[in-house]
Amino acid sequence: MKWLWLNLTLLLAFGLSGCSESPQVHQAKLFTLGTLVDVTVLHRDEAAAARAVEIVESELATVNAQWHAWRDSPLTQINQQLALGNTVAIDAATYRFIQQAQTLASHSEQRFNPAIGALVALWGFHSDERPDSAPPTQEAINALLKSAPSMADITLTETTLSSNNRAVQLDFGAFGKGYAIDQAVARLKQSGIENAIVNAGGDLRAIGSKNERPWRIGIRHPTAAGVIASLEIIDDESVFTSGNYERFFDFSGQRYHHIIDPRSGYPAQGTVSVTVIHRSAAVADAAATALFIAGAEQWPRIARQMGVDEVMLIDEQLTLHMTPKMAQRIQLEIDDAELNIVGGEQ
Ligand code: ADP
Ligand code: MG
Repeated sequence: MKWLWLNLTLLLAFGLSGCSESPQVHQAKLFTLGTLVDVTVLHRDEAAAARAVEIVESELATVNAQWHAWRDSPLTQINQQLALGNTVAIDAATYRFIQQAQTLASHSEQRFNPAIGALVALWGFHSDERPDSAPPTQEAINALLKSAPSMADITLTETTLSSNNRAVQLDFGAFGKGYAIDQAVARLKQSGIENAIVNAGGDLRAIGSKNERPWRIGIRHPTAAGVIASLEIIDDESVFTSGNYERFFDFSGQRYHHIIDPRSGYPAQGTVSVTVIHRSAAVADAAATALFIAGAEQWPRIARQMGVDEVMLIDEQLTLHMTPKMAQRIQLEIDDAELNIVGGEQ
């Protein structure tokens, strides 16, 4: 996820006015969490739809401000304290956020490892701009690998956070967008919204339906224009994709992307994208990143441990690896795909 620091802007006002007989589609675009967020709400009442957009805007802005990894934020302050070996006082929301990330990291065997912020920064991804320098030296990478920071180093109570490893630097680029969308959708439901999509640059959670017809979602082709597959949302689901095309830089003919394998310290090899469907956006977000790193051989084990059973991994040969559940419901939009359906027991 690209955590650009831009003010939220309502780019598009509603085109429809007043109240109508049947629910109408209302759409708005916001810029937050480093990406363009599309909010779609189905409602009879335009004012209610506008309030729903405000709710989404405020929830996403709260998470963005709290967890921004490189602009001055509560997170950068936490990171300064962890580097000094200090214990930090935290509130209930921070506790829930870190606890969920810590549990997911553990289930992923630390493939999803939000404690490697120093590595992400070393690769130049703590910036609003695309990195344009050489990749880091092997010595610099080794120095960070040696201290092996992970979420297991973190001691968390409901009011305090500390780390016994001073190399821990938190970066929730792989999780914050999902968490923020879950928060936004929970608030939408509380305010009576039953049919909506919050779509942050292709990563989304959709609830309900569109006038009795299911929401239909496209999954971006990882190496070409257009969609590689589409699917229909059932009731309330999140669809998250991690891809090597999201953030990268080229140097000396080599491409370096932003999903770092915590074991090698280098961008993870072998995968081009992973899509996960799960009710929780936070789980789908963390799992997409973890399974990208796990790769074509190991993803089924990590997926089971993380509690996700609808996965599509596309490897560098463009072979599509899927769980049976994913294969059952997805509609491929290309005809020459090589398929590998994995894990008959799922
Ligand atoms: P996107 O949705 O943009 O494809 P991801 O959800 O996969 O992104 O998150 C990638 C971001 O997560 C990186 O920009 C970085 O901030 C952070 N990150 C990189 N490698 C890891 C990792 N192994 N574990 C956790 N976070 C990571
Ligand atoms: Mg992710």
